[in-house]
Amino acid sequence: MNGQSVELELKQLLGEGLKSNVVLRDYTSFQVGGVCDFFYVAKTINDLVKSVEAAIRLDLPYFLLGGGNNILISDIGFPGLVIKNEADNLVFMPGSAEVIADSGLTLSKLLTEAASRDLGGVEFLFGIPGTVGGAIYNNVGTPEIAVGDFVKFVTLLIPNPKTKSAKIVKYRSDWLEFKYRESRLKNETKNSNYSMPRPIILTAKLQLVQSKREVILDRMRKNLELKKEKQPLGVHSAGSFFKNPGKLKEQTAGFLLDHVGAKKMKIGKAAVSKRHANHLVNKGGARAEDIKRLAEQLKIKVRDEYRVNLEEEIEYIGRW
Ligand SMILES: Cc1cc2nc3c(=O)[nH]c(=O)nc-3n(C[C@H](O)[C@H](O)[C@H](O)COP(=O)(O)OP(=O)(O)OC[C@H]3O[C@@H](n4cnc5c(N)ncnc54)[C@H](O)[C@@H]3O)c2cc1C
Repeated sequence: MNGQSVELELKQLLGEGLKSNVVLRDYTSFQVGGVCDFFYVAKTINDLVKSVEAAIRLDLPYFLLGGGNNILISDIGFPGLVIKNEADNLVFMPGSAEVIADSGLTLSKLLTEAASRDLGGVEFLFGIPGTVGGAIYNNVGTPEIAVGDFVKFVTLLIPNPKTKSAKIVKYRSDWLEFKYRESRLKNETKNSNYSMPRPIILTAKLQLVQSKREVILDRMRKNLELKKEKQPLGVHSAGSFFKNPGKLKEQTAGFLLDHVGAKKMKIGKAAVSKRHANHLVNKGGARAEDIKRLAEQLKIKVRDEYRVNLEEEIEYIGRW
């Protein structure tokens, strides 16, 4: 099928909401990234299913974009369909502290809505940008606690390229094999470079904790203050760039990078934050290529000096 007929078919399947040649820079916290062939905003779970099914039917690579806070999209962009997840329904289960969240719900909305109903337990997530789906995929959190500890079930859309279809399945949280900044979904797909269609999280059932609104809001405020003390906020970054190779202070990526002089390093407009050596920042107009090359230089420095291989927490997306 040629490019034009793919576009026509996709438009028929997804309607006028489908856009072509959209610049992805505006959808990521790094503020870098080239153009995708097609772009579609999914407002509901139905939209998510419909768009993934359309892509599989047309053999089109697709990428599910949450808040864009943990990715580096190449300057060339993404060849295929980018689905921006804005499905954000939230259901409170009567008589319990459980909620069912659509995967496109932002963490901040989840936390504030839950707090207004005296439900907490996840205050540590306050200040972490992104969606419920992105948070589960990355098992986000602090060094001590992560979102995976609160997930009970997920519903997934699993594509089958052979039959050109997708099915919805429900799994208990142990299926997701949560580890430090890792889930089975991230682990199984991170090196596939979109040659294979990826499963996506549609909804998640989370176990929250009954508490008092004022107490929850106070904890959220305190967590945010702590985060502001330690990390550079309000800059164009993706948070921590590398995973911590160990739990001790001397084993954190920030410590190792600081000790190899990372804070003085930059390439073009890509630089290492002066506040935290594990945060790479776009000082304005950086190219994705500059950030990636800077990351590679940092890895070499740490490997040469400490014999430690740093592994990216962020993901490289698109054609490099
Ligand atoms: C300033 C700043 C501070 C941060 N602080 C922290 C922190 O304290 N702790 C921490 O752990 N992280 C932190 N992060 C990282 C980031 O916020 C998290 O990784 C976040 O969960 C990413 O979610 P997202 O929706 O933006 O995902 P995206 O960046 O849009 O996507 C990331 C990956 O998840 C996949 N994905 C997204 N949604 C789904 C879904 N529904 N189903 C399947 N796959 C999906 C995407 O396809 C992609 O591969 C920080 C980032 C920033 C910019």
